[in-house]
Amino acid sequence: MGNFLKRKKNRRKFLKKTVALSTAAAASLIIPKKSIAKKKYNWKMVTTWPKNFPGLGSAAETFAKMVNECSGGKMNITVFGAGEIVPAFEAMDAVSSGAIEMGHGGPYYWKGKVTAAQYLSAIPFGLTPQEQNSWFEKGGGQKIADEIYKKMGCKFFVCGNTGPQMGGWYNKEIKKIEDYQGLKMRAPGLGGEVIKAAGGTVVNIHGGELLTSIQSGAIDALEWVGPYNDLAFGIYKAAKYYYYPGWHEPAAILDCFINLKKWNSLPEDLKKIISLSAKAATQQMTNEMIAGNNVALETLVKKHKVKIKPFPDEVLKKLAILSEKVLNKLSSSDVLSKKVYKSIIKFRNASIKRSENQKKFLETRYKYVKYK
Ligand code: CA
Repeated sequence: MGNFLKRKKNRRKFLKKTVALSTAAAASLIIPKKSIAKKKYNWKMVTTWPKNFPGLGSAAETFAKMVNECSGGKMNITVFGAGEIVPAFEAMDAVSSGAIEMGHGGPYYWKGKVTAAQYLSAIPFGLTPQEQNSWFEKGGGQKIADEIYKKMGCKFFVCGNTGPQMGGWYNKEIKKIEDYQGLKMRAPGLGGEVIKAAGGTVVNIHGGELLTSIQSGAIDALEWVGPYNDLAFGIYKAAKYYYYPGWHEPAAILDCFINLKKWNSLPEDLKKIISLSAKAATQQMTNEMIAGNNVALETLVKKHKVKIKPFPDEVLKKLAILSEKVLNKLSSSDVLSKKVYKSIIKFRNASIKRSENQKKFLETRYKYVKYK
């Protein structure tokens, strides 16, 4: 054996020994051997949606599936629909108390616990879906949201975005702002506060009861999401007019909330997998909503003969003035509300000039370009 080959062989031996030693050292010093092999996390996720509901419910399923697969079985999340373990609006209590590890819903459902949470869902005449996702990731939103959810004993993640919503279903035409006087409407969140200021009576009903509520005449109008989700609930069967735009929710994020103690107890790799899966589920839901809304809108118009109407400009103008008044007043009620509101408004106002580009493009595409 020549010197060169001898040196190579010796080096290989040395490397083999070193690698074996350092791997053993890493396993014994950094992570106890038992925990690598045995520690499994079987978690439950309660949601505010009917099981597998298009878009909203499927964001929770997508997220859980990604975590389960990416963790190689180390974590197994089972998703439960509203009412399967706890009713929709009790999801946060179940997670805050630690009875259940995690939940999926919408931040404004928790405004009774922490008022500032509702600003995270949507702000009337606020951010577009892309801007909203950008605010959470690059505009300081994640930090503020964590501060808000910490008060409920939870860690927060964005886990879905509905995209631009529709203005809602009405059994009465809206021709002037006074038409809101006495109108009984399902409208949660800050949009609901604006409708109240316009003279309406606002109720919060979860998705599963929407159709029966408008069918029975218990409410005159409702807003849910957009064509894809509204078609799935069959709301067209009981409502005359379908209005746009969704000024109250130009986009709305969904939340994944995790009991803070359980979150803190997780190893770093699972924390990273959860964080990335929430981002990926948000993107996947955004894509699903666009494709689903395209098809559902056509079905509503062509098959179900739904009358789609824009709100008159004068009504939108008055709703915009009311929104600013209502939000300025509401957000001054506590430090966190003021903080989250100011941050979103700053991002929104900085976005307006840039979004003129998109506005002009959409107008032009709609008016002049008909590819066949
Ligand atoms: Ca909505």
